Amino acid sequence: MLPIQIPVPLPLRFVNSYRLGPQDGPWLLVDVGMDTEAARSAFREHWNRFGRDAYEAVFLTHYHPDHTGLSGWIADELGVPVTMLAEERDLTYRVFGPGERSGDRVASYFRDHGMPESLNVRIFESHGDSTTHIRLPDEMAGLPAGHVFRLGDESWTILRAAGHTPSQGLPYRADDGTLLGGDQILPRITPNISRWPGEPHDPLKLYLDSLGELRTLPLSVVWPAHGHRIDNPLVRIDEILQHHVERLDIMAAVLEQGPQTAYDVARAVFRPNLSAHEWRFAVGESLAHLVHLEALGRARELPGGPPYRFAARTSRD
Ligand SMILES: [Zn+2]
Ligand SMILES: [Zn+2]
Repeated sequence: MLPIQIPVPLPLRFVNSYRLGPQDGPWLLVDVGMDTEAARSAFREHWNRFGRDAYEAVFLTHYHPDHTGLSGWIADELGVPVTMLAEERDLTYRVFGPGERSGDRVASYFRDHGMPESLNVRIFESHGDSTTHIRLPDEMAGLPAGHVFRLGDESWTILRAAGHTPSQGLPYRADDGTLLGGDQILPRITPNISRWPGEPHDPLKLYLDSLGELRTLPLSVVWPAHGHRIDNPLVRIDEILQHHVERLDIMAAVLEQGPQTAYDVARAVFRPNLSAHEWRFAVGESLAHLVHLEALGRARELPGGPPYRFAARTSRD
């Protein structure tokens, strides 16, 4: 296995692509970055040094542009099939396929959750920038969860890991407990768990359940899609779980001050001066926690709206 660092025009700066398989092939390429000249040059340099003839397929972990954006170019260059878990592939084309206007849907979603119009306009503009770096192949093969890529004597099983997106696929080699963590387990930041329109109602529940499942696997090392290798996966998984327990408590405490929209809660919990890009995630993340607090019986969504407001749940409710 070989990590390939690909620059992306986002605050995270790099996505880790991976070449899986034995030294002489066959190889599977996992995740590809966004369609920029810098990303194309990074792949060209890597191929000049390590070769490009033994690729058998490409697998994309999830639909986000930093993982899928360059896939059209990669498919043309390598001439091999591009694959994803089927549900995630369908979502990719629904959000970023030709003629899609997911930006409009996202703008009205933020408005419904209390975002002021001036900020919504800024978010819409910055989101437009990121979608310009996406070119998908005309088609991708959809795989079932549990699909096994056999690469020489290596077997990589695709595990379904929900929460960050509805159906992220993570390659796992049971022989030695090696997992590609995608954006499900990251070393420095906690993965963004947001509720987006058209996606599952309680993504935080799905995410916590998924981490609980991954925790039961024999895991020796996690190679994440951003940042460095994680040598103590269980410790890191527990840190992330703990982060969400604390954040749920913080947001429940904010609701004690009175009914709030997801935007109000984000303002109270996140640091001031967020960029437009960060506001998207702050509001989406707040809503994911509010919806989960509701599922836990600790909050309730008030009737009426938009804008939608949440209140603390008291014993009288
Ligand atoms: Zn992601
Ligand atoms: Zn990512």
